[in-house]
Amino acid sequence: MECRRCQGLMVEGQFFDFEGTHGFMWMKGWRCMNCGHAADPIIEANRRLHVAV
Ligand SMILES: [Zn+2]
Repeated sequence: MECRRCQGLMVEGQFFDFEGTHGFMWMKGWRCMNCGHAADPIIEANRRLHVAV
């Protein structure tokens, strides 16, 4: 998987959710090894919702 932000290498794993969407919790998702950008289906969906509103 490629980072949308920097085309760096993304690795699958667990990371802490700082978005606060579901409070503080460990989530499974993808994180860029290069810039730290996190990609998660739930977070992405929420972002789209916020943009839509
Ligand atoms: Zn990146």
